Amino acid sequence: MAELDTLRIALTPDEQRVDARLRALKEDFLQSYHGQYNMLTDSEIWQSGLYRFCHSLPKGADLHIHGLACLPVREMTDWLMSQGDMYIHTGEMPQRGSIRMMDPSAGIPEPYKRFADALMDGDITPEELQRIWSVLGAGPDQTIWEWFETIFDRHLFATNNDIVTRYYEAVFRYYVSLGIQLVEIRILPFGTPEEAAAMATAIRDAYYRVMDTEPGFCVRLLGCGLKYAWVDLGVTTAMMENAAYIHENVKDIRRGEDFLTALDLVNEEDRSHEISFYAPLLTRLVQEHPGLKLMLHCGESLHPDSRSVEEALTLSPVRLGHGFNLYQHPELLEQVRAEGICLEVCPVSNLTLGYLKDPANHPARGYRAAGIPIVLASDDPAFQEHTNLVDDFFVATAGWDLGLGDLKELAAHSIRYCSAGAATKEQLFREWQRRWDAFIRKNC
Ligand SMILES: [Zn+2]
Repeated sequence: MAELDTLRIALTPDEQRVDARLRALKEDFLQSYHGQYNMLTDSEIWQSGLYRFCHSLPKGADLHIHGLACLPVREMTDWLMSQGDMYIHTGEMPQRGSIRMMDPSAGIPEPYKRFADALMDGDITPEELQRIWSVLGAGPDQTIWEWFETIFDRHLFATNNDIVTRYYEAVFRYYVSLGIQLVEIRILPFGTPEEAAAMATAIRDAYYRVMDTEPGFCVRLLGCGLKYAWVDLGVTTAMMENAAYIHENVKDIRRGEDFLTALDLVNEEDRSHEISFYAPLLTRLVQEHPGLKLMLHCGESLHPDSRSVEEALTLSPVRLGHGFNLYQHPELLEQVRAEGICLEVCPVSNLTLGYLKDPANHPARGYRAAGIPIVLASDDPAFQEHTNLVDDFFVATAGWDLGLGDLKELAAHSIRYCSAGAATKEQLFREWQRRWDAFIRKNC
């Protein structure tokens, strides 16, 4: 399978030594590991040399992550402990573990309790939070997607823009701590256009606070609508109009570029309208708002009749979220390759949501071999991962037989295919190259 993954990127002599070290680390890991790649609980993975290698590797950017699903459970817990006005539901499921911001002078309704107090008093334990805030908590009587969506409901804490800024500042500082240079976040712009713009401005405030100390860091937003069949088209239309309003009115002033760069539609695909249902809306918005791109979730389905990739491609997207089932459509695979459309591949998300059992069988291996550009991304790390993007690089490295040249290409692609403007992209790439060279010097 090695030929399937290795794209024969020319390596310097120092890189060749690091490549040999990477392959030895992988050999060590694969000989001793017989688990199921559960990234949330498997400390054997985190303690491995291969994982540490993936952790320190300069990975560039995370191009596919959903807002409010960004901080893994331990980082979310630490952040909530530091916030005096965050409360947790300590009663029965399904509300148990729900987080809300509250003003104590207005009275705290039972059974909510200040988060730090609930944890210190033992009303709820970190182990239980790990379960009810992640895919680990899914019961036998529900699909993984049904459980997955209840986790989002427990995290509806961003009820004003002050908390939005505080939360995203924690998210961006966490990404900086991981050495990730840019993050593209998919947001749901509810409310009036002005309310949606105020929310985007609050996220931008968090970005600028982090930029004050990390001038190279960059954030871009993708505005998403809901595509569930039971969501009224008027609701989705308003969300997409709001995204276009943000695109026009909330710019990255410091970099002189667009802040919200693209549109998308989210939700479990098999219970949603086809993309064609929204085609007139999407077509109109990109025509009316030059610069606004389409980066569409599609192909995240095992259904034999899935047509979402085909429908997405009629709208000229610049990237596809997942594109997992492209292998069912050889002619579309060729179209994606010929048009140079980048796939945002989220291996941990695909594993945890049940689209495959063994990372070695991930179809993106074949997509790379066919010449389709891909990036690795994290999707919903808060509910699925131990460490954002590190886990995705780890799973791909261990499961796909990637060498250093492949990892270098995946990282470089994350900047090449990001939605920042040309000047920022060049800056990000120069900085990534500097980090890469330092990583090689340290490890060769
Ligand atoms: Zn996604």
